[in-house]
Amino acid sequence: MQITRREFIKLTGTAALAAVIAGCDWETDPDFALRLEKAREVTTICPYCSCGCGAICYVEGGKLVSVSGDPEHPINEGALCSKGASLLNLNTVYNYRSHAPELNPNRLTKVLYRAPHSTQWEERDWQWALERIAQRVKETRDATFEREAGGVAVNRTTAIAHLGSAALDNEENYLLAKLMRSLGVVNLDHQARL
Ligand code: SF4
Repeated sequence: MQITRREFIKLTGTAALAAVIAGCDWETDPDFALRLEKAREVTTICPYCSCGCGAICYVEGGKLVSVSGDPEHPINEGALCSKGASLLNLNTVYNYRSHAPELNPNRLTKVLYRAPHSTQWEERDWQWALERIAQRVKETRDATFEREAGGVAVNRTTAIAHLGSAALDNEENYLLAKLMRSLGVVNLDHQARL
């Protein structure tokens, strides 16, 4: 089928408008602003990047119904970038059938483990995961620790690397850096530099 440029713009414009109207029920509910006023406000930090913008989560009946930038936060003063503005969808998706917000089914809430050479993910508990990580770090460090290189004391392992998270605060990053250095890890960096 041949389609002219003008017809294409008309079609995509209509589709975009339909999508906006279909999404109106929830956040453009005329009572939504009133509902938000009554919702419980919980302040948090955006988990995505190292800017650490402040956000307010609005909770209604135990469910997250909206997220906005925190105007009192000194870093972002109420603004959120497009990624931060999508924070709500990390937890909640709008169900167009029931016209209600529900937990995002794609959000991982359990430890998933894929054994070497396996194609299957298996659910494990946190205790198992922590013990497994500790065991693998010890094995790797024991097998690769160098006391000296070229006649110079180095006390290091280059087989382990550590990447800090933007979701951690200064104190947590300080402790992690201390832990890594005490293990002899020299390849350590932080997401804020990427
Ligand atoms: S809102 Fe954007 S800039 Fe701010 S922390 Fe989140 S991802 Fe980073």
